[in-house]
Order: sequence, then structure tokens, then C-alpha cells
Amino acid sequence: APVIVWFRHDFRLADNAALTAAVETGAPVLCIHILDDAAGQVAARWWLGRALESFDAALRPLDGGLHVFHGPAIRVLPAVVAATGAQAVFWNRRYDPEGRETDTRLKAMLKEQGTPAHSFAGALLHEPWTIRTRMGQPYHVFGAYWRAACQMGHERPPLPAPERIAFATLDPAGLPPTAEVGAVGREMRATGWTEGLEEAWTPGEAAAREALEQFLDGPLEDYARDRDFPARPATSGLSPFLCWGHITPAQIRQAAVAQPRAAGLAKFMAELGWRDFAWSVLFACPDLASRNLRPEFDAMAWRRDPDGLRAWQRGRTGYPLVDAGMRQLWRTGWMHNRVRMVAASFLVKHLLIDWREGERWFARTLVDYDPASNGMNWQWVAGTGVEAAPFFRMMNPLIQSRKFDPSGAYIRTWVPELAGLSDTQIHAPWLAGGVAGYPAPIVVHEAARERALAAWRALRGQA
Ligand code: FAD
Repeated sequence: APVIVWFRHDFRLADNAALTAAVETGAPVLCIHILDDAAGQVAARWWLGRALESFDAALRPLDGGLHVFHGPAIRVLPAVVAATGAQAVFWNRRYDPEGRETDTRLKAMLKEQGTPAHSFAGALLHEPWTIRTRMGQPYHVFGAYWRAACQMGHERPPLPAPERIAFATLDPAGLPPTAEVGAVGREMRATGWTEGLEEAWTPGEAAAREALEQFLDGPLEDYARDRDFPARPATSGLSPFLCWGHITPAQIRQAAVAQPRAAGLAKFMAELGWRDFAWSVLFACPDLASRNLRPEFDAMAWRRDPDGLRAWQRGRTGYPLVDAGMRQLWRTGWMHNRVRMVAASFLVKHLLIDWREGERWFARTLVDYDPASNGMNWQWVAGTGVEAAPFFRMMNPLIQSRKFDPSGAYIRTWVPELAGLSDTQIHAPWLAGGVAGYPAPIVVHEAARERALAAWRALRGQA
């Protein structure tokens, strides 16, 4: 009887504990994915479609393939187990609240059917419940969290890819509905929105390794100095690869520490630490993406402003750095971290729109969307999170633009109608009399600042 490996956010052969353990049983292996109808995460679904295709293509030369089923996992997995007579199921753990709940229920159901489910540590340096204060509580402050994590060390070197996999053949009789591996890709291409994503990314394990090597060979050295400048190729661009499990932090760490000239290493590792931290925050606060972690913000007088929201989403606020970021996001499914902060702050503070609107838009448009990093970072920017920048500290988009995109190179790439302005004018086209076809600022900075501070003071009963 076969063993099943259920792939979710772990489309890779190397450092895949569930796959390795399944292969080691000696039984024929059935590789499956279960496609549900995740609504909302459009760019991420494009990535998933391509990830399924590339993983299937990676299994083909080994004489295997990926079988994709359609429907809710809670029904589909037990049905696949029953139809194939599988002796065990293997998976790598996921840490989002809904995923964990489904997995716990499935484990119990399968046990009742007499089929054990074996789960393994997923794609974090440390699982979300492992780093705790001396009192056994989760950390709320990154610095303390990361010190504790570093002291704990990293137990496990990454696993090599299995040399050989004996694949099970699949008899379609009695199986739940299957989907073709390429179906999601076609469905997504039909939306007409994927051209920029196709141009920007090659999902898959091989491309992840290539991106890592490129980063280690060059940008890592000056990472700490350059990472805030969006026009420089200074960051790794690994976030969607990490998100979909084409590569693991353990693999990245092992390759990075082997670099002799890596001045930026500590900073880079700490960023991977932020990713772990976000998952530990989500683990402690399952409604991170929908509830203010500081409940006093529940009474905040957010504005309802559909036009403002739309202008922000489409990169037409009249603030060039914000617009450049929002257009990069729309086109490529990714935005530079510094610009994510500026754009998010603009929505929440300059437009005084509820951060959850922004969280939802990012969830829809990011290829690297995950509920932990997105939720935590939005709450951090909004000032509603646990260890957040205070609400009254507002990022001035003009100052940020002059400081982090001094020559305007990033703006020129994403807002071509401003390309003809000088390096000084490009940050504030309104000071140069405006540019035809580019909007005037939808809010005046000083007035928006006053409005936000007034709302914040009212919240604190100081109006
Ligand atoms: P690098 O600078 O090369 O960093 C390496 C890795 O560290 C990243 O790939 C990522 O996995 C991790 N990392 C870096 N910064 C952060 C951070 N602040 N929080 C958590 N992990 C981090 N990142 C996501 O992966 N998914 C999201 O949905 C997401 N939403 C965000 C929303 C907002 C409002 C903000 C301000 C940030 C968000 N980030 C999110 C964090 C960060 O912007 C991206 O991880 C980063 O830009 C990815 O680019 P990179 O791989 O080149 O990063």
C-alpha cells in the first residue's frame, strides 16, 4: 500500500522532512495537493498555479508526478486515503489558524480510519510555540524574541533531496475529483492580470536556489547599508519562494553562513527572524489580520473614503513614492519593504482609512502574502500592534522619498509620467507646477497630519 505526501506550502524536494520520511518507509509514494477555493488571494493563487506546474515538472524526470485533487481537504484527504488504501499520510506542518484546525481534525479522522498521519516541522527556523519567556509566555518584543531564538541555536541542518523516489501509480477508480496541474494557471491567465507577474517571477525550487545564490554572491555584503533603498538590487527577493516553500530558512542560513565576506549576514538573518516572529505572534493572536491588538483602537474614527482607497490601490495618490510602490505591487505582486511601510502608513494615517482595508488589498495582490507577516506588519505600521510604532509617529512620504530614493530612479521605473522631472522635482511634482496626466496630491500632508493627530487625540480622550 502506498504512503501519501500531502504538499501544501512546501513545493520542494530538498529539506522536505515529510517527503524524506515518506521515502524512508520504502513504500511507494503518492504526491498530492488539494486545491480548495481560497478566495481573495489572487496573486498568491497565480503563484500557486505556477508552483504546482513546476513541482510536477520536477517530479517527472524521477518518473513521478503531482496529483491534484479538488475540494475541501477535510473531505478529500480521507477519501483519497480510502480509495488508495494508503498506509500513512505525511505532511509538513502549517501554522495559520484555519490550517492548524483542519490538520488537527484530519489527524483524528485518519486515526479513526486506522491510518496514521505524521507531521513534521515546517518552514521556519523555530516553530511558533518553541520560543517562550522564562514565564512560558510568548514574546511581544522582537529584540528579546530574537535573542532567545539565537541562544536556542538551530538544531537541524537542512536535509538533502531524496536520491530516488519509488512512486505509487494511481488507479482513478473511486477517487475524489482531480484537477489538472495546469488548471489554476489557465484560470489565472484568463483574468488577464498575470502578464506582469509572469515577467517578474519564475516560481519553483530551482529559481529559488538561483535567487539565493545571486543574493549571496553580491547584495548580502552591503545588505545592512542598502536594504532600505528601493532602487538598489539590495534585498534577496526570496519572500515568495519562502512563502511557498520552494526554499527553507534552514537552507538559506546554511548557505549564508558559509559566505566569508558577509558583512550583512546578521541583519539578514534577523529579517528571517522577523518572519518567524510574525508566525509566533499569529500563533498567540489568531485574529491578527482582523482585530486591533491594542483594543483601544476599536473606537478609532476611521474614515470611509472609497475614492481615496481606490486612488491608493491604483497608485494615483499624487505622492510619487507611494504611487511607485502601489504600481510595483499591482504589476509584479511584490513591493520593496521600505515602500510597503511608506504606502501602508499613508493609507492609515494620511487617508485615515482602517488598516484592515490595506491588509486585504495586500492579501489580494502580494505573491508573498502570508497572514502572519502581513497582519503583523500592518498592525505595526498602524500603531495598533503589540510592539508597534506609535500612531502619532507619521511617515512623511516626501522626506522618505528624498531620503531613500534620492535620484528618483525607483519612481522613474514605476511612474513613467514623471520620468522627465529633475532629481529634485520628482519627489514633489506639485512644486514644479504638476505634470499632465499625473494627479495632484489627494491630501495635503500638513492637513492630513493634523486630521490624523486629532483622531488619535480624540481616541485618547484628549480632544
Ligand atoms: P529581504 O530583505 O531579502 O529579507 C529576507 C526575508 O526576511 C524575506 O524574504 C522575508 O521572508 C523576511 N522578512 C524581511 N522583512 C520582514 C518583515 N518586516 N516581516 C516579516 N518577515 C520579513 N512579507 C511577507 O513575506 N509576506 C507578507 O504578506 C508581507 N506583508 C507586509 C506588509 C507590510 C505593510 C509591510 C510593511 C511588510 C510586509 N512584509 C511581508 C515584510 C517585507 O516587506 C517582505 O518580507 C520583504 O519586502 C520581502 O522582500 P525580500 O525577500 O527581498 O526581503
